[in-house]
Amino acid sequence: MKVLKDSKALRRALASAGNRGRRVGFVPTMGFLHQGHLSLVRRARRENDIVVASIFVNPLQFGPKEDLDLYPRDFAHDKKLLEHEKTDFLFAPLAEEFYKADFQTSLSVKKLSRPLCGLTRPTHFAGVCTVVLKLLNSVMPDTLYLGQKDYQQFCVIKQLVRDLDFPVKITLMPIVREADGLAMSSRNVRLSLAQRQEAPLLYQSLKDAQRRVKQGPRAWADIKQAIHSRLKGLRHGRIDYVEIVDAQTLESVIEFKAGSRVLAAAAVFFGKTRLIDNVLIKVR
Ligand code: AMP
Repeated sequence: MKVLKDSKALRRALASAGNRGRRVGFVPTMGFLHQGHLSLVRRARRENDIVVASIFVNPLQFGPKEDLDLYPRDFAHDKKLLEHEKTDFLFAPLAEEFYKADFQTSLSVKKLSRPLCGLTRPTHFAGVCTVVLKLLNSVMPDTLYLGQKDYQQFCVIKQLVRDLDFPVKITLMPIVREADGLAMSSRNVRLSLAQRQEAPLLYQSLKDAQRRVKQGPRAWADIKQAIHSRLKGLRHGRIDYVEIVDAQTLESVIEFKAGSRVLAAAAVFFGKTRLIDNVLIKVR
């Protein structure tokens, strides 16, 4: 695996690997890798001739009071994991080189960035869009691999590449979970023992909502309320949001439509650590 620190070097390395006519798969990450990230890398490995992963804790997607400095990092370990999965190229730029001192550009996907995580993190998705487009411009992959864990991010990026005619296919991968159901996240290591013990309630409450929908017609408000009530019981966590939205538009769902797909999503703060999770529900 070759490790590249700047976009020019990455472009050169990809060109000399003869990327023309060979399929390139790309997995962008912020590092501190776990099995969720690796499931994306494995899928990319199966489907492509060349696999590129990136590790970059993107300052643009963190708000001023968020956990940029506390975000967990372990480059040496990540590198080993990616080598083990036979990744060809690891792109790991330095923030100050990736964003030159006079960097001014910001991209945003307006509507899809507004609800859910956008409410507490109003600048987050503009940061995500800007970094992803910069990364795509350097890697020029055929396929981009993203996780359902960040479902809103997937919707925003899908819209971005569509609006800007970027020729890339997006593959969405299911959420990989711990044995007790907690969605794997780099941030989980920052939970205290007590917070970690409570954290699976996030998924349990969403699963419960999914089960209720499958049992038959219900008012959405009731289902949302049921998730809310369960999460309210957290002793170490504080609800950021609970939402049930249309899986395509991310607009609040107010009535049942048979055949539609909805997303039940929630975010909870455990101290300064904010965890998100979601389930997709097909309405029968
Ligand atoms: P991150 O490093 O958190 O920015 O995540 C990089 C990519 O891995 C994103 O596409 C995430 O959605 C995906 N990802 C993170 N956690 C998981 C998980 N538990 N299961 C599947 N994909 C994940």
